[in-house]
Amino acid sequence: MNKVDIKSLNQKELTEFIESLGEKAFRAKQIYQWIHEKQVDSFAEMTNISKKFIETLEEHAYLTSLKKEEVQISKLDGTRKYLFLLEDGNVIESVLMRYKHGNSVCISSQVGCRMGCRFCASTLDGLVRGLTAGEMLDQIYQIGKDIGERISNVVVMGTGEPLDNYDNLLKFIELLTDEKGLNISQRNLTVSTCGIVPRMRELADEKLAITLALSLHASNQAKRLELMPVANKYDIHEVIDACKYYFDVTGRRITFEYSLVGGVNDTDQDARELTQLIKGINCHVNLIPVNPIKERDYVQSNTKVIEAFKNKLEKAGINVTVRREMGRDIDGACGQLRKRYKDSNGNL
Ligand code: SAH
Repeated sequence: MNKVDIKSLNQKELTEFIESLGEKAFRAKQIYQWIHEKQVDSFAEMTNISKKFIETLEEHAYLTSLKKEEVQISKLDGTRKYLFLLEDGNVIESVLMRYKHGNSVCISSQVGCRMGCRFCASTLDGLVRGLTAGEMLDQIYQIGKDIGERISNVVVMGTGEPLDNYDNLLKFIELLTDEKGLNISQRNLTVSTCGIVPRMRELADEKLAITLALSLHASNQAKRLELMPVANKYDIHEVIDACKYYFDVTGRRITFEYSLVGGVNDTDQDARELTQLIKGINCHVNLIPVNPIKERDYVQSNTKVIEAFKNKLEKAGINVTVRREMGRDIDGACGQLRKRYKDSNGNL
């Protein structure tokens, strides 16, 4: 018999489960509080639950609890990069970024990724599996406990394609924003996608107040295809239409992520085409100087080119920022810490 993944259950599902084990609904309330408010790592820590019922729980359920395998702390800006060990021996990475306005955690949504973006380290070894809602949530719980501070913002921008793990993502959002749990406002959550069009539209129809970030990275279909194989499936214009739909339905401004790759997508012509492509969309463009990985020969655009690119967009009335590079002195790029760990520890 498969054990129930108790950390991924919402209040209603937990109540049904606890009742099915012969206990009253109020026990479910207490257990939910232990899991999502006090964030314990084992059933044994639930001190107002009888020993006997704890044994029953252990027999029928498991409580996801990620193990901190490694933490790198940036001397430059206090960014922390965590490597967590999952129950099945896989490892994932998460990042804590400290801003004036609060602590932000960037989580992984999958072990590995199958999207194949050319500049990204997370996808080099393909997809292993999607994370459960509890595993996504626990990255935030463990980091919050590690620093003893509240986490106010969450971005789903780590390893994996969140819309390729859609049902677990929705459950994660429900639990993360639950007022009986961490109670993070939907407005403080960003989900980043490489552009899986049908899922973007479905997510819009959920009518949540979360921010959708689209990894655009190119100003036309031909260039996008060079960098992102997903463009074979969804044309750049379909993706842009899905972004417009998202804004129309939710009223939430879209974020476009654009990683600047030296000589590839950073020319004046690119800036002009980008302006045309997103003209009239209520959006914000986040320019990210590409973080070179050793497996590919892509290089960063130089500072002057980045500045010029930004100015061009600004002149066209587009909201744009250059992403501040956090944790430059640690394995900063998406998937690099996990990759290094995997390569030196065999095939985890
Ligand atoms: N799969 C999702 C979320 C994970 S990637 C997505 O594609 O959006 C988070 C962001 O980091 C994406 O915009 C991705 O394209 C970008 N990224 C990945 N590797 C990078 C690198 N080496 N340099 C700059 N940006 C990178």
